Amino acid sequence: MDGALNENDISHVVEADRAHVWHHLIQHKPFETTDPRIIIEGKGMRVWDQKGKEHLDAVSGGVWTVNVGYGRESIAKAVYDQLIKLNYFAGSAGSIPGALFSEKLLDKMPGMSRVYYCNSGSEANEKAFKMVRQIAHKRYGGKKHKILYRHRDYHGTTISCLSAGGQEERNAQYGPYTPGFIEVPHCLEYRAQPDFTGGNYGEWAANQIEEVILREGPDTVGALCLEPVTAGGGVITPPEGYWERVQEICKKYDILLHIDEVVCGVGRTGVWFGYQNYGVKPDMVTMAKGVASGYAAIACLVTTEEVFEMFKDDASDPMNYFRDISTFGGCTAGPAAALENMRIIEDENLLDNTLAMGERMMGNLHALAEKHAVIGDVRGKGLFCGAELVASRDTREPADEKKVQAVVGDCMAQGVVIGATNRSVPGYNNTLCFSPALIATADDIDQITDAVDQALGRVFG
Ligand code: PLP
Repeated sequence: MDGALNENDISHVVEADRAHVWHHLIQHKPFETTDPRIIIEGKGMRVWDQKGKEHLDAVSGGVWTVNVGYGRESIAKAVYDQLIKLNYFAGSAGSIPGALFSEKLLDKMPGMSRVYYCNSGSEANEKAFKMVRQIAHKRYGGKKHKILYRHRDYHGTTISCLSAGGQEERNAQYGPYTPGFIEVPHCLEYRAQPDFTGGNYGEWAANQIEEVILREGPDTVGALCLEPVTAGGGVITPPEGYWERVQEICKKYDILLHIDEVVCGVGRTGVWFGYQNYGVKPDMVTMAKGVASGYAAIACLVTTEEVFEMFKDDASDPMNYFRDISTFGGCTAGPAAALENMRIIEDENLLDNTLAMGERMMGNLHALAEKHAVIGDVRGKGLFCGAELVASRDTREPADEKKVQAVVGDCMAQGVVIGATNRSVPGYNNTLCFSPALIATADDIDQITDAVDQALGRVFG
């Protein structure tokens, strides 16, 4: 670690943090008696904490974000150069990096046509919901306003995003929720719904969505919002045939398909966007975390030209455009960082590396499953992998959450940061999550799964 703080500086930072910072998603009580973890520095796949301890980061900054790894000087320089030239102007005007990143991004998204800039995944999703509601008003007298979301999916932290959230633990106590959001069943084959009696689970699970549409009335449903691979809800890869059927259903009932690529977006699954694994043609795509790998805040809502056109169909109506703004959507640091982030992924062939290292990670996890009966299911796409832990393979009863967290803690003690589904679906916070940066090497992958091997041995015997 470069430029280590001296002991006095560190204890001052720790005390200031403990006294003043309200950390995300952390129970308060244990915090009073344990030191907060402060990450001081990062380079490549590794970060160092306040004690100088090195950690191999198997979760890209904790939440699938730092896709190109830490300490990228070229991104820092691109941001610096841009900030000195122009840091900000409201998004009603254009900017050089905004225009150039849009062009480059759309080049990776055939069929998509317009980029709307904002700051966070939640905000991008909110804006997509607003577009759906406005289209309902403009085209359908307000009727086609309902937005379907899936059990176990997550779309963000605002009240409307929670209203579109299928994770009860994230949602509880934040109601009343925004009306008009309707849940459809998940598509996790390992935990297929009891009324599935055989056949192709993917098609069956997609047909459950159609049943909800028919129950609600197709003329009331404006959009379906899904994660291509569910992230925090349990690393749920779609079963075969699922997406084809979902696309058919959306077409049949004239329902906009909104794909939330906040986690999968920009390389995580070994292709630019998760939906591209399944041949899907979305109407709206939202993205955030990996777009600039956390070097600057940026989120995008990308639409087709058809969606864009819907907002200019009556020029005599002064209300016909998308009456929305995002102050920091006008920051130039985001698209400047995103442009350089994308160049790195291309020039360093990181999509290919993601596919190769993802395969290695899945192979290692399957090998661990042979050794540890506590692993009930292994799922993944690219460098987005999960291992669901169970108390019994026969009953598939989820493993004790505290023990799942103990595995995470044991890996941390070994200097490897892994994740686990956390505060999401009650009873199912039992999936270990692995999402290293797209630059991971074979040695990194092996170090991660070796640590898990040891941790599982110690925690589950
Ligand atoms: N969508 C998905 C799939 C996510 O996983 C998240 C955050 O984890 C969000 C949206 C919300 O993004 P943000 O935290 O940037 O608002």
